[in-house]
Amino acid sequence: MDMQPYKEALLRKRGELLGADGVKPFQATMENNSRQGDMADQASGNNEVHIQLKLKQTDAKILQAIEEALGRIDKGTYGVCRDCNEPIAPARLDAIPWTRVCITCKEKQKS
Ligand SMILES: [Zn+2]
Repeated sequence: MDMQPYKEALLRKRGELLGADGVKPFQATMENNSRQGDMADQASGNNEVHIQLKLKQTDAKILQAIEEALGRIDKGTYGVCRDCNEPIAPARLDAIPWTRVCITCKEKQKS
């Protein structure tokens, strides 16, 4: 199995997540928006902050999963389900390169 495309996808996504954290242009835009909205939008402004915090938590989780996936590529265990040790379907890896489990085990987790 050729790991290179997955490695590249993982590194690219990691770069996106790290780049999105603490970069000024995005924050500046947010600030301008809230100033324009002024007091009338204070409530929805709070909601925006809340959503951003939630996104940050998700980002951190994905970031951790990406680090693990990169480690598995180095060890040669990438693409194998953590729970059942079966190979994960390539289509699933294409969609979520940092996934740890196959679709069957993911479905089991939900229920
Ligand atoms: Zn599995």
